[in-house]
Amino acid sequence: MINVTKTFLPPIEEYQEYVSSIFQRAWLTNNGPLLNELELKLKAYLNVPHLLFLSNGTVAIQIAIKALELKGEIITTPFSYVATTSSIVWEQCKPIFVDIDPFTFNIDPYKIEAAITPSTTAILATHVFGNPCAIDEIQNVANKNGLKVIYDAAHCFGTIYKGKSIFTYGDISTTSFHATKLFHTSEGGAVFTMQPALLKKMALLRNFGHITPTSFDGVGINAKNSEFHAAMGLCVLKYADILRSRRKEQWNNYLNLLSGLKVQFLTITNGTEEYNGSYFPIVFETEEQLLKSVEALNLQYVYPRRYFYPSLNTLNYVASNECHESEKIAKTILCLPLFHDLSYVEQEMIARILLRVQNN
Ligand SMILES: *Cc1c(COP(=O)(O)O)cnc(C)c1O
Repeated sequence: MINVTKTFLPPIEEYQEYVSSIFQRAWLTNNGPLLNELELKLKAYLNVPHLLFLSNGTVAIQIAIKALELKGEIITTPFSYVATTSSIVWEQCKPIFVDIDPFTFNIDPYKIEAAITPSTTAILATHVFGNPCAIDEIQNVANKNGLKVIYDAAHCFGTIYKGKSIFTYGDISTTSFHATKLFHTSEGGAVFTMQPALLKKMALLRNFGHITPTSFDGVGINAKNSEFHAAMGLCVLKYADILRSRRKEQWNNYLNLLSGLKVQFLTITNGTEEYNGSYFPIVFETEEQLLKSVEALNLQYVYPRRYFYPSLNTLNYVASNECHESEKIAKTILCLPLFHDLSYVEQEMIARILLRVQNN
């Protein structure tokens, strides 16, 4: 069976060594030594000045919205994982969907201005599949209209855009270290900001608003992560270079193997210096072709995923506005299996099945 993804697990002895040290210290959570070590190592690896390790990537978005004290309408993308939209609604704000660019699958920056109203407070955009948004254009619209910018960078581990980590853009960037992501801590996530005041605020939000054990500043939540999760992160981080280079190799393999297939591939945004190859999406001409291909792959125990489906503007808890491109792409896009030990032979088999369906 070949699934769309597979969690990378480090050698168990390496994890056990950390677990033994946790047992010796009997310090399981609350800003423990492994958590601190992971935060330091991630900052160095990603070349970012600040980050906070959190319990997951969804709470990271919620904390970003809270820290910026957003109210009213937030302009966002309909083409992302559901957590991007649900976090906005969870924080009592209203998502306003702006359609996507049909080549990068990211929010179309030229359609943002028309969606701004007096109630708009921010733009929350996703770098879909690790492919950078039109960051300069989005920042220009935000500056012109006094809006905050949050990036959901859940797919972006290791992405470098115009000389800097993608996590350094926007007022706040968030990411996920869920087990299905390129780098993971089982469950986990992070927030990034270049603004020290925001960093301090988010550190309080992460830990109930505690300043000291007996004093508080504002309402907070429990968004901390544990020593066990930090230990997994420390183990996986040692393999991050290998994982990333494997992905890139496999990404290029697919591109070559599928060159005869009549599908659209992802257009990498100009200015991307390091693309992490985290997903391999293909867009079919029709949904029927997609369904036929999925059926043929399933027969051979290959399980790709319809990322992202459905288009988020069609969720039953949002006021929907039509997003033609996003709805069209959501119906015709398929992410092919991509994970650390997917072999070339398996990629060849997947390509052969897809080509056979097309030529039938
Ligand atoms: C995975 C993901 C999230 C949520 O992260 P969790 O760590 O699973 O909470 C949010 N946004 C996007 C785009 C994701 O892919």
